[in-house]
Amino acid sequence: MKLAARVGRIAPSPTLAMTATAKAMAAQGLDVIDFSSGEPDFDTPEPVKAAAEAAIRAGFTKYTPSSGIDELRQAVIDKLRVEQGLRYEKSQILISCGAKHSLYNLAEALLEAGDELIIPTPYWVSYADQALLNDATPVLLPTHEAQGYAIDPEELQRRITPRTKAIIVNSPCNPTGAMYDRPTLEAIATLALRHRLLLISDEIYEKVVYGGATHVGIATLGPDVAAQTVIINGVSKAYAMTGWRIGYAAGPKELLTAMANIQSQSTSNPCSISQKAAVAALRLGALFTDAMVREFDRRRTAMVDRLNRIPGVTCRMPDGAFYAFPNIRGVLGRRGPDGPIETPHQLAQYLLQHAHVAVVPGEPFGSRDHVRLSYATGMETIQRGLDRIAAAFEKLTI
Ligand SMILES: *Cc1c(COP(=O)(O)O)cnc(C)c1O
Repeated sequence: MKLAARVGRIAPSPTLAMTATAKAMAAQGLDVIDFSSGEPDFDTPEPVKAAAEAAIRAGFTKYTPSSGIDELRQAVIDKLRVEQGLRYEKSQILISCGAKHSLYNLAEALLEAGDELIIPTPYWVSYADQALLNDATPVLLPTHEAQGYAIDPEELQRRITPRTKAIIVNSPCNPTGAMYDRPTLEAIATLALRHRLLLISDEIYEKVVYGGATHVGIATLGPDVAAQTVIINGVSKAYAMTGWRIGYAAGPKELLTAMANIQSQSTSNPCSISQKAAVAALRLGALFTDAMVREFDRRRTAMVDRLNRIPGVTCRMPDGAFYAFPNIRGVLGRRGPDGPIETPHQLAQYLLQHAHVAVVPGEPFGSRDHVRLSYATGMETIQRGLDRIAAAFEKLTI
């Protein structure tokens, strides 16, 4: 069969692939420690589950308006007004099947052959693959560990061409955990305004921040910036609701209408029951998320401190999200049972096969020096897993 050319341009999500392998090994009875998965280990809050049960009992089990139920769109409007001082009309809000789906609708509505999308690296893999699926070209903007992964406005400027359509802003960032400060966001916004580029602000980790830091949404820098920003967010990470698949987009009406039309021809509507659950989540207040983030904070410190005690490994303390992104360059070049280990990919394979620890290699995030470990997992798992990693690295010969 001759498949469409776009299929050949992308790979399945490497994070999901690593998690699947780890789960398959565990199903065979192996004691696998999984740091690969990108989701909170917390259970969905009770009031959210209750809202879903009530929706089922009330027969709220039919098609909904394609762009989402009014109640949920209004809850999103209220959230953005109260928390960020931003004003949107219903026509500017689209509820989708997860933030990843929001981004997919956006890529389809915005990008075509010849278009360029600027993506700061290391980056969340789907940004590039979704651009490629829509015949556009991802333009990678390197950021550096030594600078805390901050964006250098001059480097950004140099990558802007007449074909540039948009810039990804993912703060806090998956995988680095870096958060952009206000001056950095202002510099990005200034360039976006000057060159009339769309800002794609993926704020899925806005609530998962540490040390009293506050997330600054780029759209809050001014009405002119907001007019050129599409905010992407969802309930997956803040409310431990990854399986419910509810995300949303807020932005310019013309763009959001196009995205809504695409969605109406592809998925019709997001799950009716999950939408009711998401309304309950957005009305929860900060209690659930704050408690979860406090626990992530303890694990963050434990994981990063332990990583930094492993010879050959250095790890920057993440500002947000729930990933450690250790630099493992000092371990590369050593020899394992299957030959020399030269890449993060080979290191991740070695850890999985010989230590039964799953981590995600850096390559698909755009790094040849790092691996990603999630600390959204129990403290005991973190201790045991890192002991195994340390022991496995010690067995490598120089
Ligand atoms: C998890 C994640 C998403 C997508 O989350 P959904 O479950 O699809 O809502 C989007 N962006 C980043 C950076 C993520 O880590």
